Amino acid sequence: MKARRRNCDVLIIGAGPVGALLACVMARAGHQVVLAERGRRKADPGHSRDTRGYALSAGSVTILDDLGYWAPLMEHAEAIKEIHVSRRSGFGGVVMDASSHGVAALGQVVPAARIEAMLATALAATDAQLLEQTRLEQLEAAADGRRGVVIAGPDGRHRVAARLVVAADGSSSETRSAAGIEVLRRRYDADALVFDIEPSRPHRGRAFERFTPEGPLALLPQSGGRMNIVWVAPPEACAARLSLGEVDRVKALQRAFGWRLGRLRAVGPVACFPLEMVRARRLHDQRLVLAGNVAHGLHPVAGQGLNLSLRDVAVLAGVLSRASDPGIPELLSAYSRARASDIERVATATDFLARGLLADRGLLPHALGGAMLLLDRVDPLRRAWAAQAMGLQPLPRQSLRAIPTLSPKPSARPGQS
Ligand SMILES: Cc1cc2nc3c(=O)[nH]c(=O)nc-3n(C[C@H](O)[C@H](O)[C@H](O)COP(=O)(O)OP(=O)(O)OC[C@H]3O[C@@H](n4cnc5c(N)ncnc54)[C@H](O)[C@@H]3O)c2cc1C
Repeated sequence: MKARRRNCDVLIIGAGPVGALLACVMARAGHQVVLAERGRRKADPGHSRDTRGYALSAGSVTILDDLGYWAPLMEHAEAIKEIHVSRRSGFGGVVMDASSHGVAALGQVVPAARIEAMLATALAATDAQLLEQTRLEQLEAAADGRRGVVIAGPDGRHRVAARLVVAADGSSSETRSAAGIEVLRRRYDADALVFDIEPSRPHRGRAFERFTPEGPLALLPQSGGRMNIVWVAPPEACAARLSLGEVDRVKALQRAFGWRLGRLRAVGPVACFPLEMVRARRLHDQRLVLAGNVAHGLHPVAGQGLNLSLRDVAVLAGVLSRASDPGIPELLSAYSRARASDIERVATATDFLARGLLADRGLLPHALGGAMLLLDRVDPLRRAWAAQAMGLQPLPRQSLRAIPTLSPKPSARPGQS
C-alpha cells in the first residue's frame, strides 16, 4: 500500500511523559507537531497500567508550573515533608526534614497515571497530531532540510518528512538504533516491584528509603493516605513475590519494612520493572535529537530519571521555541552541550549508588550505615545531599520564557487569531 505523505516541523516518536510534554509545548510555540506512539494514551487514569508514583523534585515542579501543567496535577500530589533513610539490621539512619532546609516540601509525589492523563488532555487541546498504535518502519537520511520517517499504523503507512525528529521512545529506543547511535548499557541484577499500599497509620508526608541486603525498598507518600512501594530485589526474588497472592506479598513487605506505619494493605495492581542503566553516546544526529530515557535510562534508587528528563524537555523547548527551522545543526549542538554535564553528573552518581548497593550485598550496608551516620552529624553534607535530591541546582527555566503561556487557553498559532 502507498504511504500517506505529510510534512511537519517536529516529529516526536514516543508519547511517554517526555514526548507528550514536548509535543504540547512545541505545538503551543507554533510548530506543526506529529506525535507517534506505539501504544495508546489514556486520558482516564483508571485505564493506565503504570503503577509508579513519581517523586518530583522542586525543580521539576517549577518547570511544570512555568509551563502551566502543575495546576491540574496539584490535587493529586502529596508533599514529601520528611525522608527517613535507614538500613535493615544496622545502626545508621538519617532523617531529612523540609523545615530544617527552609522549604515547605522536599519533593512531591504524583501518580504516573495522573501525569499520563493530564498530558493526554493537554495534548488534545493543541493542534499536534497524535498517531497511536504505530511502529517505526524506516528512518531515512536527512535530505533537503528534512528527515523522512516511515511509520506503520492501523490505518496504513505514513511517510512523515520532519525538520526535526525527536526520539522519545524510551530506553530501548528503535529510533536511536535506526540512527546508529550507540549506547552504554548495564543490566543490573535487580528488578523493581511497584504497587500501592494503604498503611493503617497515617504517613504524614514521610517517605522511607530502607536499604536491605537485597536492595533498596522505598515507600513514597501519596494523596488519599496511600503509599507507593518501589521494592528492588534480584529478579528471581521479584518473580517469586509477583507470583504470590496479594496478601502474602504484603506480609513479605511487612516483614521487610516493619510496623512503623501499622498494618499495610495492598491496593491496586502490581507491576515489575527490569532495571538497567542506558547512556547514549551522543544526543543528536542529523535533524534528530534524543530526550528522556532514550538518552539516559537510570536505576530508580535516587528517583532522578524523570526529573532529569524534564530538564531535557525544558532546555530543548527553550532552544527550539523561536526557531523557524528547529532541525539546524547549531541548535542541536547547543542542546547537546547544554545537557551534557547534568546528564553525566546524575547518571554517574545514580549508577555508582546502584552498583554500590548491588556490589556486595553483605559488606556494603556497613559502609552505607557509616555514610548515613556521617550525613546525620555533618550539616553541610546533609544540606548538599538534600539540595541534590530536591533538584535545587540552577534551573533551565529561563529557557522557557519564549513559550507562550497556557492560560486562559492554549495559544493560537502565529498568524491565526
Ligand atoms: C520503578 C521505577 C520508578 C521510577 N520512579 C521515578 C521517580 O520517582 N522519579 C523520577 O524522576 N523518575 C522515576 N523513574 C524514571 C522514569 O520512569 C523515567 O525517567 C521516565 O519514564 C522517562 O520518560 P520517557 O518519556 O523518556 O520514557 P518512557 O516513559 O519509557 O516512554 C516512552 C514511550 O515511547 C513509546 N514507544 C516505545 N517504542 C516506540 C516506538 N518504536 N514507536 C512509538 N512509540 C514507542 C512507549 O510506549 C512509551 O509511551 C522511575 C523508573 C522506574 C523503572
